[in-house]
Amino acid sequence: MRIGAHVSSAGGPAGVFARAAEIGAEAVQLFISAPQQWRPPAISDDQVAAFRAARQAADVPVFFHGVYLVNLASDDGALLGRSVGSLKQYLKWGDTLGTVGTIFHVGSHKGAGFETVLPQVCAKIGEVLEYAAGEQLLIIENNAGQGGGVGITFAEIGAIIRGAGGHPRLRVCLDTCHAYAMGYDLATPEGCALAMEEFEREIGFDRLVAVHANDSKTPLGGMRDRHENIGDGHIGYDGFRAIMRHPAFRDVPFLLEVPGIEGGGPDAENLNRLKAIRAELGIPAPGPATPAPA
Ligand SMILES: [Zn+2]
Ligand SMILES: [Zn+2]
Repeated sequence: MRIGAHVSSAGGPAGVFARAAEIGAEAVQLFISAPQQWRPPAISDDQVAAFRAARQAADVPVFFHGVYLVNLASDDGALLGRSVGSLKQYLKWGDTLGTVGTIFHVGSHKGAGFETVLPQVCAKIGEVLEYAAGEQLLIIENNAGQGGGVGITFAEIGAIIRGAGGHPRLRVCLDTCHAYAMGYDLATPEGCALAMEEFEREIGFDRLVAVHANDSKTPLGGMRDRHENIGDGHIGYDGFRAIMRHPAFRDVPFLLEVPGIEGGGPDAENLNRLKAIRAELGIPAPGPATPAPA
């Protein structure tokens, strides 16, 4: 089990690997454009070469996080077009830079209802995957449930995947904070088992490729997206013990998106808290990301 983090790409994407090494991140998530803007990623050939070389040396799996403005459920044609275009670009850049895939939020139906927007969401996901025909995974993240979010339950995500024809490159990232805020009680072994039963039934464990490991400032079912440092929120240390003990997560990289002890984002202290639980539970630390040739 890899314990990784979202890492700042300020100054160029290749810089994430040095920052990841500094805090001990064993997997990396980054933005390749400003997450609150539509401005497309602009990565020079030199930056591409630097990124690829650093990634190979670091030998850690890399994920992009899509821009926050993406909304595949929008009824605004221009916004929808930009959303689809942004995801297409991210997947193309993923092929160029050699990442696992792009994690994104499906968006919001803004009161129209999940069933109403489902066909459009599935069609647009199909369009993105067809355009970016390489090896990149398109990874749906569960939402915390505020503001008409789409993909707030494992059942909704399952319906989206089925509606998109069960495309093999359509995968899922489970955010522990969002799930907890939606009422999945991951903080207890019983609640965790129940939640993951639903996940297995509606989605299947083979689709789970990443975990956003965040504690929650919001109590169970509070439906608000507020991340807390590991162990300091309502999920707590025992909650992360229950999560990490569950077999569904055994080979899935954990990516922290926590505020940080000093407020500077994921840090060594937060990573070490999860690594301590991993050691305590006897879960093996990762070997090389790239399997040695047989
Ligand atoms: Zn997240
Ligand atoms: Zn969040």
